[in-house]
Amino acid sequence: MNFTDLNLIEPIAKAIQEQGYINPTPIQEKSIPEITKGRDFLGCAQTGTGKTAAFAIPILQNLSKKKPSNHIKALILTPTRELAIQIEENIKAYGKYLPLKHLVIFGGVKQGNQENALKKGVDILVATPGRLLDFIAQGIISLKNLEIFVLDEADRMLDMGFVHDVKRVIKLLPQKRQTLFFSATMPAEIQKLADSILNNPVKVEV
Ligand code: AMP
Repeated sequence: MNFTDLNLIEPIAKAIQEQGYINPTPIQEKSIPEITKGRDFLGCAQTGTGKTAAFAIPILQNLSKKKPSNHIKALILTPTRELAIQIEENIKAYGKYLPLKHLVIFGGVKQGNQENALKKGVDILVATPGRLLDFIAQGIISLKNLEIFVLDEADRMLDMGFVHDVKRVIKLLPQKRQTLFFSATMPAEIQKLADSILNNPVKVEV
């Protein structure tokens, strides 16, 4: 399969071509058509499989059809600062010809710059759990208009002791939303979490 078979809008197709990608990876081949249709998705995939583009590309495609606004429409929750930065860089690359605004927030740094950027409006937010909950508690972030939620590296969230924080975030999300769940492994506790937040997901293991 070639990226041209995936019915991506021209601004995204062009950006992907500029990245030098020709063929979607196996997880992308499955995720892009299903996520653009609005399905929930469960991906059992390690880093290196192209899983970031597997959710970033269809999110951009889905949100490109909406009017840009100042509400957070997509949230990607990931366990570490390094992953968060990497995900935002991917979104920036694939979304370079779209008017969507994206931002990454994480702890361990002063919040001023992140807070100023949030006030300018963000469509796609990439976050680590602690900093996200801090901003929510301060009333700086609201998730009430969220349409798409991605939980990335769910098993690592568990290993790093973030499951309680993740569950607190999930409780704040609108019931009606699209949920995408990624984990390299599926221990029982992660399977239970997946079952509790996904609605009839397409499941892909790579
Ligand atoms: P990830 O699994 O998301 O960490 O991606 C691993 C690496 O593969 C990243 O450096 C991506 O830029 C790259 N990549 C993702 N999708 C493709 C693709 N379809 N073709 C070539 N490289 C890709």
